[in-house]
Amino acid sequence: MTPEDAYRDALAWFQANWDPQLPLRDWWQRLADSGWGFPTWPQQWFGKGLDHAAAKGVARARREAGAFSAPLGIATMMVAPTLMEVGTPEQQQRYLPGIANGTEVWCQLFSEPGAGSDLAGVQTRAVRDGDEWVVNGQKVWTSGGHYARFAILVARTNPEVPKHRGLSFFLIDMDQPGVDPRPLRQMTGDAEFNEVFLTDARARHQNLVGGLGDGWSVALRLLNHERESLDADADGSGIMGDLDLDAPAGTFVGADGRNSDDGTGPMSMAQGDGAAELLTTLIAGAGRRGDAVTRQRVADIHSRIRIARYAGGAMPPSAGKLASVTLMRKVRDEALELLGPAGMLSGTEAPLAGAVTEMALWTPGLSIAGGTDEIQRNILGERHLGLPAEPRVDKDLPFKDLQQPSIRG
Ligand SMILES: Cc1cc2nc3c(=O)[nH]c(=O)nc-3n(C[C@H](O)[C@H](O)[C@H](O)COP(=O)(O)OP(=O)(O)OC[C@H]3O[C@@H](n4cnc5c(N)ncnc54)[C@H](O)[C@@H]3O)c2cc1C
Repeated sequence: MTPEDAYRDALAWFQANWDPQLPLRDWWQRLADSGWGFPTWPQQWFGKGLDHAAAKGVARARREAGAFSAPLGIATMMVAPTLMEVGTPEQQQRYLPGIANGTEVWCQLFSEPGAGSDLAGVQTRAVRDGDEWVVNGQKVWTSGGHYARFAILVARTNPEVPKHRGLSFFLIDMDQPGVDPRPLRQMTGDAEFNEVFLTDARARHQNLVGGLGDGWSVALRLLNHERESLDADADGSGIMGDLDLDAPAGTFVGADGRNSDDGTGPMSMAQGDGAAELLTTLIAGAGRRGDAVTRQRVADIHSRIRIARYAGGAMPPSAGKLASVTLMRKVRDEALELLGPAGMLSGTEAPLAGAVTEMALWTPGLSIAGGTDEIQRNILGERHLGLPAEPRVDKDLPFKDLQQPSIRG
């Protein structure tokens, strides 16, 4: 289907079906059933099997109809595509419906105090006990861990083999006694992340994804999906947090068709159409329409947005993510420049209710989340450009023989 056909069909559907009075849970169910909420997913699983370009047409139609988007978060961006590829039929049937209709929120238990970029170094252990695995360890930077219902977990199941080979990937229930999320306050003032302490937590053997010891390859697959979702032409609308499913769906969407109350505010503001609108508003406010330097910088930002739109889906996810980070920094710098000293203000009385300041404080996070800029460059160099790999002295040593950083400091 061409992007124009997708746009036309989707617009007709959204115009006929969007009802701002519907409770959010009913709207999300309607979207999931129709396939228009996740147009790139297969028809069998709440999608339409469309390509990236056609999906952009669908997103445009949705915004034009003023309809609230499908749920957006770790569950829809990463867990669902991974389960569709390597999950068992039972896992797909149990978990995909709750992801598609937004009733079950997920978080990602990957990073640890001693294992971020070096994800293969995770120390959290999972030990088999009959039909279950007993999990002990500490995770950190777990976005949404305090309200998530389920998590994807990378844990060490075999310390006798080299680090990449002894990991397994589990789906685990967050709502159990052995899981203790403790929120961490970040510089935006919000507390979106958590430390998560796992003490004799249980994961069912049926919820092992991929084979035993295949955790690294499943995690890489999932991280690719994460990077794809962070590209510079990402829709940037949707919801990362936990919303009141009984509230009218119209509560969450603004007059311009952008989501009015969503955890991705900073991202939608610094990407694609959101960036263009923001800069237009600020330029008008600052009386800088005729200023040649501003015009030049904004032209650069516009070009990057257009290139991302044109190349989206065609470049390696790491390149897409780097492009997104660069764009976000440029938008931040230009927005702060246009605001002048007022750019230092935060809170509801600041320009645009403090939204630019919030975006500025959030920007560094994007260059770290989902793998830092340096790691993306390493991936591009090694896997795509064929440059020599970094020396890895621990590659062939059993994990148990490596010197481990202390987990609790
Ligand atoms: C907004 C946000 C959301 C996040 N959400 C989650 C989540 O939900 N779940 C989760 O598990 N994690 C999450 N994280 C954690 C994130 O994945 C890690 O912070 C990231 O992978 C970096 O790991 P680290 O913080 O341990 O830094 P380190 O790995 O200690 O890196 C420190 C510095 O060293 C550099 N460096 C490290 N190794 C290399 C190398 N080989 N070559 C060159 N430079 C290198 C890095 O680029 C970085 O500048 C989130 C982080 C952010 C910012």
